[in-house]
Amino acid sequence: MNDRSVPHSRFSLQFLGANATVTGSRHLVTAGNARVLVDCGLFQGYKPLRLRNWADFPVDPASIDAVLLTHAHLDHSGYLPRLVRSGFRGKVWCTEATRSLCNILLPDSGRLLEEEAGHANRSGSSKHHPAEPLYSEADARASLSHLHGIGFDHVFEPVPGLRARFRMQGHILGAAAVTLEFEGRRITFSGDLGRPGDPLMHAPAALADSDWVVVESTYGNRAHPQDGLEQELLAVLQRVIARKGVVVIPAFAVGRAQMLLHVIARLQDSGQLADVPVYLNSPMAASVGGLYRQYPRLHRLDGPALDAMQRITHVVESVEASKALNRRKGPMIIVSASGMATGGRVLHHLVAFAPDPRNAIVLCGFQAGGTRGAALAAGQKQLRIFGQEVEVGAEVVQLAAGSAHADADEILAWLRSAPRRPRKVFVTHGEPDAADALRARIEHELGWPAHFPEYLEQVELA
Ligand code: ZN
Repeated sequence: MNDRSVPHSRFSLQFLGANATVTGSRHLVTAGNARVLVDCGLFQGYKPLRLRNWADFPVDPASIDAVLLTHAHLDHSGYLPRLVRSGFRGKVWCTEATRSLCNILLPDSGRLLEEEAGHANRSGSSKHHPAEPLYSEADARASLSHLHGIGFDHVFEPVPGLRARFRMQGHILGAAAVTLEFEGRRITFSGDLGRPGDPLMHAPAALADSDWVVVESTYGNRAHPQDGLEQELLAVLQRVIARKGVVVIPAFAVGRAQMLLHVIARLQDSGQLADVPVYLNSPMAASVGGLYRQYPRLHRLDGPALDAMQRITHVVESVEASKALNRRKGPMIIVSASGMATGGRVLHHLVAFAPDPRNAIVLCGFQAGGTRGAALAAGQKQLRIFGQEVEVGAEVVQLAAGSAHADADEILAWLRSAPRRPRKVFVTHGEPDAADALRARIEHELGWPAHFPEYLEQVELA
């Protein structure tokens, strides 16, 4: 099962996810006799991808010595409870803020998976009887004891002989690029690359000196408008408020929900936007909000900005209060997870508010293929939610400037910040068009060898 008879100084990389898709980030690094997994994400979106979550892990989890997480988003961390349940015994290294976020996110993920399995059992919609969750909340809590927080820019050894260092990457609290050095050879994993001008997060640090770079390409074929978010959001909010409608914003609970509330607070405080009620209906987003005070150096918001955000936000706690919101009349703004409308409380709001043309659904951030968010963005007029068809009469707006990911020019600028040209760049974490467009630009504009690896492809770092 576990072949440890590899030559001593072998250094290799295998792509176990995020190939031609933005989800399921997992990269297996072999350094001598040790195995280290960089990111341990869930596959989301199209069903054939989601089924990979259920397949046996490509190598025996017990043979992996350590895991390093670039950040807490579930497509980078959400498989961890399953890995631990399947026999992984080592440490999981991440930044302190990533650890704090995982403490909130992973148990919530387990609880949602249990709820989905329960729902499938009640409705008879699963082929499996009984339907089992991928992992439970208890599995997720058990996995948390493996997490080991480490400061940005500290050099540490996840396994003997392999040196590692996290550098700030913007994107969300705690997000990092990680550089591994083994016998004089260095590889950097970008994780998810933030934006230099993000309203919430700091600009990413420069790319470290590296022989190989694994870079994300979510927006590898797109350009974000510059500084347009506030005006883009203001325009749609004003339109909907004028017709007394409801704005439903499916938002990623970690990062985008807080960014939106910050911008809405600024618009209301400056008098540009009417003081309509703003609801945050995501208990997880509410707990995450507290972490911005715990890690003041990791983002751009000062005390008064955090106070303003808190002042305008009505946090919806109970399920009853969440249901009551669906009976309220507009104008009002509801920010609720999940960001691609794949699950969470926002689904109930879509059932209630999507049919009425006075309302709007505002999408913020990347909508992976196969999700309801992508269907909405593509103009689909019907959504399937809880086994029923929901008409979409509401205006659908996708905020072009709302992303927490760098666009193609910003990714190239980050690559150019390296002190020297790497030997090769591996382009991952993008749908095929985006990944291949970025690969071509790296080759043509930077003149660096670039490769778009396939799922399970293995490369020697020699
Ligand atoms: Zn992310």
